[in-house]
Amino acid sequence: MNRSTAEHGVTPEPQRPRCQEYQDIKHERAQALEAGDRQTAARVTETMSAHLWKVHV
Ligand SMILES: [Zn+2]
Repeated sequence: MNRSTAEHGVTPEPQRPRCQEYQDIKHERAQALEAGDRQTAARVTETMSAHLWKVHV
């Protein structure tokens, strides 16, 4: 049971990709940030931008 809606209602994100892989990466990053794991968060951020370049450009 995922509640992956909400939280993003305010800020408009232009060209927000909606693919499952991106959602997974985003989720992983959110969890790392929540856990205060900056190293993992930074690594996942890299994975995220790599994914955007590779798949969505
Ligand atoms: Zn994607």
